[in-house]
Amino acid sequence: MSTLKMLDIYKPDRLDWMYCTNESQLTELRKRNIKFSLAINPQIPDSGDYTVHGRIKDIEGNKLKAPWMQNWEQKNPYWGCVNNPIFQKLFIKKTHQIIDLGAYGVFVDDSRLNEQAIDWGGCMCEFCIPGFTKYMHENYPGKVEANFDYRKFLIENGIKKENFIKKTNIPFWSEYKDYQEKSVIQFLKRWKKDAKIYSGNNIVFLTNNYKGKWSNVYKQFDVGIAEVPANGLKQKFIVDGIEQARQLNKKQFYTFSSDSDADNVEAVLDMYLLGTTLVIPWDVYVDLKSRKKPTRYYGEPEIYSPIYNAIRENTVIETVNKKNNYDFSQTKSETSSARIGSKENKIASSKIVKYEFQDSTNINTVLVEKENFRIIYPKNKSKITVDSQSQTRINVYGKLLVIKYEN
Ligand SMILES: [Zn+2]
Repeated sequence: MSTLKMLDIYKPDRLDWMYCTNESQLTELRKRNIKFSLAINPQIPDSGDYTVHGRIKDIEGNKLKAPWMQNWEQKNPYWGCVNNPIFQKLFIKKTHQIIDLGAYGVFVDDSRLNEQAIDWGGCMCEFCIPGFTKYMHENYPGKVEANFDYRKFLIENGIKKENFIKKTNIPFWSEYKDYQEKSVIQFLKRWKKDAKIYSGNNIVFLTNNYKGKWSNVYKQFDVGIAEVPANGLKQKFIVDGIEQARQLNKKQFYTFSSDSDADNVEAVLDMYLLGTTLVIPWDVYVDLKSRKKPTRYYGEPEIYSPIYNAIRENTVIETVNKKNNYDFSQTKSETSSARIGSKENKIASSKIVKYEFQDSTNINTVLVEKENFRIIYPKNKSKITVDSQSQTRINVYGKLLVIKYEN
């Protein structure tokens, strides 16, 4: 089992977003004192392995799949409706199982539920439609008839399922969106209340929040985990997500969907500098548009173990690039160089320094005072030359060099 291997190498504090009901596997986690959250999603099966009842429906009464799952071969493709009592009970029952399995948290994968299904023309089921009539009467008195049936009304006005995908102007659609958002929030609030009682107020609520956003639905959770795309390093949304989480007294973590060692190392260090932690890059789903098939990335422990150990020890991490005060200048046209002067670089304790080079096509050179250091990245491509009695010259191919200095 790849996960067990990872646990023994990286010794993480927690394991999140896991689908597991296997008691013996969970026992392995308990033996290692690793906390775990277990995942739940809108596709909890209701009939054996299948999703038959309590599902989101479109205007024609068809059950709905998420658009990105259209070609996935699943026995349980259909999303549950938060207004349907069958699904409500199912969600609570599954959560009780998760709590009974000893999870510290319950992770809702795709927690937008009905609010997201709005984009696919849902939900127009036999529970959502009367609920909307009630919503309209309460919020917009006199605007619709007492026996208003939104689904019938749309059909009579010539609206078909295609109109939702094409984002045609649909009457009362913004009211319907608001109603569905409120439905999801109410559903999550009730579910959380039940889970707190069942667990003796000892449960954490986690979700994947797209781009680290804290929308009204995501705000129902304590922890958000968002994926940073392969080209998403150093983007503003990362900082915004962390900052917003801090203001809301929540926690924001990120995963990084890239199979580049250099970019993953950067991501781990950047997240730490921003005050959060990158989920250990092990068994990461990587879907690059240039590739034919999605792949998985397994970060080499040789690179990441020292970094995560340093993070656990609250080691200082510094970034050196052209913006810093260090003398980091092109010495030759084909060679850029970073020099660490002894005065600026009094090393108090162990620390990690990340050197970012503007030019990754040539050899970059870093001169360091002779001291105890260890090159963490790159593993094979750096060439170490002792330049003089006091300095070491490190030649690097590529855009990144990471060194750990020991005191
Ligand atoms: Zn519904």
